[in-house]
Amino acid sequence: RKGTAVITGASSGLGLAAAKALAETGKWHVIMACRDFLKAEKAAKSAGMAKESYTIMHLDLASLDSVRQFVDNFKQSGRPLDVLVCNAAVYQPTAKQPSFTADGFELSVGTNHLGHFLLSRLLLDDMNQSDYPSKRLIIVGSITGNTNTLAGNVPPKANLGDLRGLAGGLNELNSSAMIDGGDFDGAKAYKDSKVCNMLTMQEFHRRYHEDTGITFASLYPGCIATTGLFREHIPLFRLLFPPFQKYITKGFVSEEEAGKRLAQVVSDSSLTKSGVYWSWNKASASFENQLSPEASDAEKARKIWELSEKLVGLA
Ligand code: NDP
Repeated sequence: RKGTAVITGASSGLGLAAAKALAETGKWHVIMACRDFLKAEKAAKSAGMAKESYTIMHLDLASLDSVRQFVDNFKQSGRPLDVLVCNAAVYQPTAKQPSFTADGFELSVGTNHLGHFLLSRLLLDDMNQSDYPSKRLIIVGSITGNTNTLAGNVPPKANLGDLRGLAGGLNELNSSAMIDGGDFDGAKAYKDSKVCNMLTMQEFHRRYHEDTGITFASLYPGCIATTGLFREHIPLFRLLFPPFQKYITKGFVSEEEAGKRLAQVVSDSSLTKSGVYWSWNKASASFENQLSPEASDAEKARKIWELSEKLVGLA
């Protein structure tokens, strides 16, 4: 049978490109889990995806109710769950003030980490029950949260500190909108959320890989300087960033190529290893990359897991 892959945020950028790449193989049915139904439908059509290769289902990761609703809808669809790709993200590099999810969490960490945390916890059982030979939970990471790289050292750097802001619920009423309890910084909040994504993948691996055989992996697909992720950046940045990445850092990768990379992590038989973080070299070959000390800190991963469980109502 065809595999079923759920991809969050498949209405643009990397998620859309991966959905298209998987659909084109004829071996996958893609569930596009998106907050804007119409946008997703238009995106799938203009990408040329065959009608029977995808289903769009509503999911707003900035609302825990919506996440639960999505899970119910998915279960009711009767489809098996073979692969879940946590791809959606918001990035607010120029925001002066924090904005918040429906549940009152700072938006970047609330969407990118907490929404996906609840989603993947609630869907783990479904994945476990599937009879697909290679089940995978993929969480899209980023080099920017990884301070053992050049890009990860551009300030403001990711730093989760002692997690006091997360423990306080990520809002200024109780403590702070930032995980480390510091002043709000939109670019840092995004990087922090990506560290949480990479730590969550490793914690899943430690807790569930042996018993379930599910592959838990993360990846950095390269700098896709043309996606909507940078939509909130100042115009000059948006103008100069793609050529800068193309000619200076040479880290630039097209949406199509990045989509193929993510599709490889979903379905390639050589990328089944669990607990790893994939990257690609200049020749576009995948390799198992190293994470920074903070992004591979097992004790921090456990604490984030436990605090996140409380915030999303699982504990
Ligand atoms: P895009 O902005 O193009 O895609 C992000 C997607 O997330 C969009 O489809 C967006 O939906 C969706 N989304 C945002 N908020 C929510 C929400 N509350 N509920 C549901 N969906 C939501 O950016 P990219 O394709 O670049 O980003 C995809 C992933 O790749 C992210 O995890 C990002 O961190 C990662 N990444 C990107 C890099 C890059 O250079 N671009 C580099 C490294 C990692 P909508 O279409 O409705 O806005």
